[in-house]
Amino acid sequence: MSQKISGVKGMNDLLPGEIEIWQSVEGRARDVFGRFGYGEIRTPMVEDTALFVRSVGEETDIVGKEMYTFEDKGGRSLSLRPEGTAPAARAYIEHSVNNQEPVTRWFYMGPMFRYERMKTGRYRQFYQIGAEAYGAKEAAQDVEMMDMVVQFLESLDLKDISLNLNSLGDEACRPAYHAKLVEYLKAHREELCGDCQRRMETNPLRVLDCKNEKCQAVAAAGPNVLEFLCEPCRAHFNDLQRKLTGLGIKYVVNPRMVRGLDYYTRTVFEFIAAHPALGTASTVGGGGRYDTMMKGLGGPDVPAVGFAMGLDRLVLLLKESGKKFTQAPDLFVVAVDEGSQDLALTLTSRLRREGLRVDFDTRGGSLKSQMKRADKSGAHFTLVLGEAERTSGQAKLKRMAGGEPIPVTLDDVAKALRAHRDAAPA
Ligand SMILES: [Zn+2]
Ligand SMILES: [Zn+2]
Repeated sequence: MSQKISGVKGMNDLLPGEIEIWQSVEGRARDVFGRFGYGEIRTPMVEDTALFVRSVGEETDIVGKEMYTFEDKGGRSLSLRPEGTAPAARAYIEHSVNNQEPVTRWFYMGPMFRYERMKTGRYRQFYQIGAEAYGAKEAAQDVEMMDMVVQFLESLDLKDISLNLNSLGDEACRPAYHAKLVEYLKAHREELCGDCQRRMETNPLRVLDCKNEKCQAVAAAGPNVLEFLCEPCRAHFNDLQRKLTGLGIKYVVNPRMVRGLDYYTRTVFEFIAAHPALGTASTVGGGGRYDTMMKGLGGPDVPAVGFAMGLDRLVLLLKESGKKFTQAPDLFVVAVDEGSQDLALTLTSRLRREGLRVDFDTRGGSLKSQMKRADKSGAHFTLVLGEAERTSGQAKLKRMAGGEPIPVTLDDVAKALRAHRDAAPA
């Protein structure tokens, strides 16, 4: 016997039964994001490695440790995309979109790849939904995006979610904060983990989101970024909060939140869910403003704000909710003899063309086995075809939930099904 080949560790198959939840989430995202004027983009799953090194940053875990990087047959260094913001920015620059419109709103959804240690809801091929808005530096743009995320989560009936906010300042005020932070971290060098002792030289902000408890204690007592904001950054952050309050969106200001990526300026935000399925309080998504990244990638001087959300975790939350996502067939057609098989095939074909979900057993078989199959399918109605039905053109719709059979002519099955489906209690 030949050996069985398994799927790659950390990369999952999504099969019917579960995929309906994914489709539902994706459908809601398309609907809600569309209402906010965001258009969908699809970029390749593979990009030039330099794109991520220059945007996400060499010092991040994503680029430093977690990327799937390989050389193609032409000797180019390519990477499976570990996130969606850099590819979107690359596409925006490449197509000179800024010359076509002053403000651009895009969203994307699809698989991302990181070679990470696996835990609940975290995989090496994972799925993200994200959005980017280019061209507006105003706080109103940040707020509009947060409102969109809130409305998206509401559409999924996920309500136990809190919004955390921070501002990381800009080129004018961040250097002073950096200097103070480095000075403070140097004084506490011995209390930091090995990674952070290195990070404090290369990217001190990263120390603030180290998972190590000792590092977190050091960070908590350190300088507060908000006290270093220059006047324009402070005004931006105040405006942001005033507008969120105006929309009735609740938030918490968290000066320790920096979000592990190098490119953020001013606003950063996270949506946090308290849910047992995810362990303790857990981030379902987040993002921030990146006003200098486009220029850094050789593009135009265009401000931008974006967010991304892990679909795997959202799906976990929805699975826990016990809501039903699969759709049962409207009708199961049972053919009791050889001659009825052909009729079953043409009847089901016609009903499907008319928009109904219809199933039948292509193998034929005994009445009993087909009825069993109909039962298992969860179909709302069955219709049995035999010689009598073939000759008379009359049949009976049997409601699986019980009750009197409904007489129908074979020409009017669709009409009858619709009438009784709409009348039936959900
Ligand atoms: Zn650390
Ligand atoms: Zn500033």
